Amino acid sequence: NSLQVSVLGLGAMGSALATALLKAGHPTTVWNRTPGRADDLVALGATPAGTTADAVRASPLVIACLLDHASVHDVLDPLTDDLAGRTLINVTTTSPTQSRELAAWAARAGVTYLDGGIMAVPHMIGLPGSSILYSGSADAFHQHKPLLDLWGTSTYYGDDAGLASLYDLALLAGMYVMFAGFIHGAAMVAPAGITARQFAASAAPWLSAMTGGLAGFAEVIDGGDYTVAGQQSLEFSHLGDLQAASAEQGISTEVVDMVQRLIQRQIDAGHGTEGFARIFESLRHPA
Ligand code: NDP
Repeated sequence: NSLQVSVLGLGAMGSALATALLKAGHPTTVWNRTPGRADDLVALGATPAGTTADAVRASPLVIACLLDHASVHDVLDPLTDDLAGRTLINVTTTSPTQSRELAAWAARAGVTYLDGGIMAVPHMIGLPGSSILYSGSADAFHQHKPLLDLWGTSTYYGDDAGLASLYDLALLAGMYVMFAGFIHGAAMVAPAGITARQFAASAAPWLSAMTGGLAGFAEVIDGGDYTVAGQQSLEFSHLGDLQAASAEQGISTEVVDMVQRLIQRQIDAGHGTEGFARIFESLRHPA
């Protein structure tokens, strides 16, 4: 673990990443725009850099964990000469387009670029359950995988630098809609005097069990044939009962209406006897 690493950005996340490197014995140079945020890391053995140029020149591997895409350019644009020949792993949250822009910027500067999307909160870094998605330079990923694994499970999605961010956002989309579904259920039972905590005790094992169906949906979607026998048809999945029961409880039906609209478009197009996975087509072809 003698590889020298520099970490730019010591917010909550950058500090957690630097701490994991120091604990594993990597000589680590740290820099933050606002002074003072390096103190705890220096106590753990980090070397503070006075300027960004000093930080970059200190290591062949530079980690950027800043606020957003613009802050990465603010910090690194003046340093392209210093960065040339080095590897930049940028775990700042950026959109797929912004990640691709940074990869092109790095390529022009002769910088090896790997983009990361962090699927964890700072206190999870280095613990089971922390997952970080990467795309961009395959060489950088494979060369530094032991170091990346100090932060969490590291998964590489390909040399298109935008893919880590795309996966990150797609996974978050799945999470938010699932959470909204849980909260809808909690709102349905609340007028009956059932607490959200009581509902969660039933919802958590139910939703966990239902994730077992994802692979089956995926197979149907990838096969493109939604008529596959043995699945629930769209007409059967019709959410009218859920909408009615929600309305009877006096709560908003927005969450179930959204799913019902996706179903209805396929029924209207004559696909009512096909499987629920067919709503994929409603999403792929917006109304
Ligand atoms: P913080 O707000 O704690 O820290 C932001 C960091 O960015 C600080 O070091 C700040 O410096 C620096 N910064 C902001 N703007 C500039 C700028 N223009 N120039 C130089 N430095 C700048 O955020 P986090 O550490 O939590 O997040 C960092 C990144 O990690 C973000 O992209 C975030 O989306 C991502 N992330 C965070 C997660 C989390 O749970 N915290 C989860 C997943 C991803 P200063 O101290 O001077 O303000």
